[in-house]
Amino acid sequence: RTARPAAAHEGTPLEVLRRVWGYDEFRGEQAAIIDTVVGGGDALVLMPTGGGKSLCYQVPALVRPGTGVVVSPLIALMQDQVDALSALGVRAGFLNSTQDAAARREVERAYLDGELDLLYLAPERLRVRETAELLDAGTIALFAIDEAHCVSQWGHDFRPDYLQLSMLHERWPDVPRVALTATATDATHAEIATRLQLDDARHFVASFDRPNIRYRIVPKDNPRAQLLRLLREEHPGDAGIVYCLTRSSVEETAAFLVDNGIAALPYHAGLDRSVRARNQSRFLREDGVVMVATIAFGMGIDKPDVRFVAHLDLPKSVEGYYQETGRAGRDGLPSTAWLAYGLADVVQQRRLIDSSEGDATHKRRLTAHLDAMLALCETASCRREQLLRYFGQMLDEPCGNCDTCLTPPETFDGTTAAQKLLSTIVRLEQRGQRYGVGHVVDILRGKSTPRVSSLGHSSLSTFGIGSGLSDGEWRGVVRQLLAAELLGVDTDGYGTLRLTPGSADVLRGERSVLLRRDPAAGRSSGRPART
Ligand code: ADP
Ligand code: ZN
Repeated sequence: RTARPAAAHEGTPLEVLRRVWGYDEFRGEQAAIIDTVVGGGDALVLMPTGGGKSLCYQVPALVRPGTGVVVSPLIALMQDQVDALSALGVRAGFLNSTQDAAARREVERAYLDGELDLLYLAPERLRVRETAELLDAGTIALFAIDEAHCVSQWGHDFRPDYLQLSMLHERWPDVPRVALTATATDATHAEIATRLQLDDARHFVASFDRPNIRYRIVPKDNPRAQLLRLLREEHPGDAGIVYCLTRSSVEETAAFLVDNGIAALPYHAGLDRSVRARNQSRFLREDGVVMVATIAFGMGIDKPDVRFVAHLDLPKSVEGYYQETGRAGRDGLPSTAWLAYGLADVVQQRRLIDSSEGDATHKRRLTAHLDAMLALCETASCRREQLLRYFGQMLDEPCGNCDTCLTPPETFDGTTAAQKLLSTIVRLEQRGQRYGVGHVVDILRGKSTPRVSSLGHSSLSTFGIGSGLSDGEWRGVVRQLLAAELLGVDTDGYGTLRLTPGSADVLRGERSVLLRRDPAAGRSSGRPART
């Protein structure tokens, strides 16, 4: 923290932008947002990652008298944020659980003496009465509520402490508030406004398109080998993030990449705090580091040249996927968002939902989130169109920079294939039996495996009626029927297939099924695809 006279910050927002940051102009809606807040109004800002949200509260904090109070869940990044601001000559400090009493007292003193332009606060600080009393004893320029979607109970980043942030308005009705997020479905948007009591706020919704990111979703075959090929062929030496669902797969994948000569580091919440900090700082400061991480990594990370974000497991929602992939290419240069997805992902995610805590409504919402994600994976049309539509935004034409635009998938009328598959399941159910995809496909393809023989399944009337499609193609059919809920899967650990209400429509011929042919699935009966 460098003390400097407050007069150094005086001026219009544009003067402050040029003098302090050295930027020429505001971008997009920044100027309008800043004018609103400087004028004492509330604002709700929905802007994609990398859009420039920070300036929307930092500039007004410098222009208005007093200290801008920033509520942020990103405790691990506060020191970095404060350091970066100090380097620009902005007087900033933070209060959170990581600092000792002496450091806290020094920040409190600076605030009371009017020596802070920005004060970062962890949300749980506001639960403490002393914090409110402290704030009262100084001058508050504005409140910024960063990562405002954390107030959404149904979102992927819910923080209970965010719920009490409505107290800001109750206690300090005259202090302008700006809430910011990169998550923007209509539902989240509305929930933020309600829960934070932003009744009179102006809403600023930026375009969520990130045209430099090329979206690609591929059928999962041998995911680590597929990943390695992507890194070697398309991103040698590039910095990137690889997301995995579990801590163990993070560690295994990182070790696998290291064994193959890639500068990979692991990151998950189970690692020692110091290891996490070291890996994060290497990722930020060194060139070409690949961070293999759970979704615990990434929020608030500002590294402009992340060239790819790869997912080895299916994200739980489109919102999560969009946020995670949005960490690629903040510098506007061509970048890749790559996701490998297979049948096992669907089974696993459905099982996670079934076993999750929460009532039926909660599970229905999780299921709706997953279904939207599956629809994105299975679409035969432009990914970006589908993604933006999810956020209530339209593209004028297909983007030309996603896998489905670049190599349009072949589609075929899969009604007969679906009927063959479903009627096999009907026949098994009539015998009181249920099986997973492997066995059902063996029956369809007429393979006399030991299991097929011992169960007498070669006598089923559907035995061998599906020999026209390969193993991989059948798995693609199963996945797409699952995504469309025309087929169900038990989440009992075996992934056994079952019928759904929609299955009956297909079996009766009342519903036709358009399927995409996976480019990687192959037409012949070579090596069985592992999904
Ligand atoms: P967000 O918080 O929305 O993800 P940031 O506030 O971190 O985005 O901004 C992303 C990057 O864009 C940062 O490096 C920031 O300095 C830069 N930036 C923001 N606004 C401008 C501007 N008006 N001119 C130039 N660069 C900007
Ligand atoms: Zn496209």
